Amino acid sequence: MGIAPDRIRVLPTDAAGRIDPVGVSAAIIADRSEGCTPTVVCANAGTAAAGAVDPLPELAEVCAAEGVWFHIDAAYGGFAVLAPRGAVALEGIERADSLNIDPHKWLFQLYEAGCILVRDAGTLEHAFSIGHDVLQDAVWGTRHANPADRGIQLSRSFRALKVWMSIQAFGMAAFRAAIDNGLDLAERAAEYVRDSSTLELVSASLSIVCFRINPGDLSEDALTDVNREALARILWGERAFLTSTMVNGQFVLRLCIINRNSTWDDARETLQAVERYAAEAIE
Ligand SMILES: *Cc1c(COP(=O)(O)O)cnc(C)c1O
Repeated sequence: MGIAPDRIRVLPTDAAGRIDPVGVSAAIIADRSEGCTPTVVCANAGTAAAGAVDPLPELAEVCAAEGVWFHIDAAYGGFAVLAPRGAVALEGIERADSLNIDPHKWLFQLYEAGCILVRDAGTLEHAFSIGHDVLQDAVWGTRHANPADRGIQLSRSFRALKVWMSIQAFGMAAFRAAIDNGLDLAERAAEYVRDSSTLELVSASLSIVCFRINPGDLSEDALTDVNREALARILWGERAFLTSTMVNGQFVLRLCIINRNSTWDDARETLQAVERYAAEAIE
């Protein structure tokens, strides 16, 4: 967006990966006292690593009180609002001035269909509309916006068509059920990990469960090695596509369940495969 890195404040998060609204408020005040003009707070509705959701209602309050734009990165997590428990988890998302959301993630669309929602489309037109002479015949009428006036691209493909078509074909109920299924499987997977004697639950939010093999008597370096090895083994040997990430500086295995075909058997067998490896590694 052309914002220089030294103009961006990255604020600390708690153990669950959530930003502290009081810290945001303090950072805005501190920046103003240094002659800066804070313009936008960017919060997360489901981080890519751990699915962490910032305290959105409190951040909305801070932004409203300070007159700062409130943006939410909902690329992965935003579609959780379509399931009742997801809507509870993302309460406050409706107060964003803008949010980005990826139908190619949790709305099961073909790659890619990144999307931005804004409270007032006029703000986009104000920024992006450039009215070139060669476009003077492109009259769109009063109730038909020209997408070129709302973003950087002029020529663009019709990405919205596939989203619209699939919703027409399958109906929203099917999407709600598929998202609810992902949330359900993640909850069950987190429970499974919590009850396991060899696995440690590191975080669980939306459809992402981060965990690691931890028999309790290994150093952090040894734990990283064991878990790295387990990941390679699952990737090459089992039918699960498991990934890894870092949570609070720890190497963790990351189960992200957003395939509409995933079943509890898939999740359970994946976790059992990790446990099998754990048992061998600990021997
Ligand atoms: C995937 C993701 C992005 C990047 O989105 P692209 O569509 O790949 O550009 C940004 N933020 C979060 C939280 C994501 O999950």
